[in-house]
Amino acid sequence: MKEDWRIANCFNLTGLPLRHKQWTQYRQGWDHDHCEACFATFAALEGADYLKEGFTTTEEHPRGAMYHWVCNTCFSELRNKLKWYEASKN
Ligand SMILES: [Zn+2]
Repeated sequence: MKEDWRIANCFNLTGLPLRHKQWTQYRQGWDHDHCEACFATFAALEGADYLKEGFTTTEEHPRGAMYHWVCNTCFSELRNKLKWYEASKN
């Protein structure tokens, strides 16, 4: 099944709140991220086919806010299985 490999990839994010955010460069030299589930690329580069927003970890994650990213498609398709819920905006 198509979903299985995506679930295995982001199983470590099970049960966590995720916050919908615009992707922004997190620190110098870190110019992109990948969806934890499907590996789609997030980047702020202009004119390219990159994701510009998605769902990201919050302060509740051991590695902190904006460390892991999940694309909108994976969030909506996998949220029930992985018990994700949408964190409030801040
Ligand atoms: Zn994805």
